[in-house]
Amino acid sequence: MTGSVSLSLRDVHLAFGRNPVLRGADLDVARGQTACVIGPSGSGKSTLLRTINRLIEPDRGDVLLDGRSVLRDDPDRLRQRIGMVFQQFNLFPHMSVLRNITLALRKLKGLAEDEAAAVARTQLELVGLAAKADARPAHLSGGQQQRVAIARALALQPQVMLFDEATSALDPELVKGVLGLMADLAAEGMTMVVVTHEMGFARQVADTVAFMDRGVVLEAGAPAAIFEDATHPRLRGFLSQVL
Ligand code: ADP
Ligand code: MG
Repeated sequence: MTGSVSLSLRDVHLAFGRNPVLRGADLDVARGQTACVIGPSGSGKSTLLRTINRLIEPDRGDVLLDGRSVLRDDPDRLRQRIGMVFQQFNLFPHMSVLRNITLALRKLKGLAEDEAAAVARTQLELVGLAAKADARPAHLSGGQQQRVAIARALALQPQVMLFDEATSALDPELVKGVLGLMADLAAEGMTMVVVTHEMGFARQVADTVAFMDRGVVLEAGAPAAIFEDATHPRLRGFLSQVL
């Protein structure tokens, strides 16, 4: 994918009040690769993801895109470069699917309404939802809503995509379609960080699996190394619960 970048988190620290949530987290994702972040609830996975696009500013450490710190980047510009998809879709309920996508294009990219609509329709076609452009989100299935949220992020032509448990709120039969779309994106060479409980996806799609525990990336490596040759007792314990 053109414009794809490498991503590095370096010794990222962050505390909420007296609660140290990130305690020196490191992660490297090469250009065009996918890192899946796994780990127990409360280990800091969502917080880590949020430091990448500066929804939260770390207390210490750095986040680098192609070696350049995002902490000096303009936040609006950064959020065009880094797309994010959440568990709860976060679509605007009172707007049509199309408008959910054109809004950011107009606001962040300064496109005129008709230009934005053309980009949005192309993007909707790519996620298989061209026919739903005029529908309200509530009239779509959870899986379709999540595909709209992905289309909305992709419409801005990001260099990195972040997914925070994007399939956790979906009915089981809808999970596959969304994971398939994410796998396609990974295959096309998008740089991605995917927080997920879907171990099958991590095993098949990830270039790197990072195990987070108590605010640090305790182990990171190829899926086979993490899933088959785990040595750290915390990782072994986690895997024995989820596999
Ligand atoms: P995970 O995504 O791995 O479940 P989170 O990053 O959501 O973990 O949370 C890690 C810890 O940070 C938890 O103890 C959580 O309660 C705390 N936390 C997360 N967000 C906030 C916040 N905005 N304010 C205070 N504490 C928070
Ligand atoms: Mg989380």
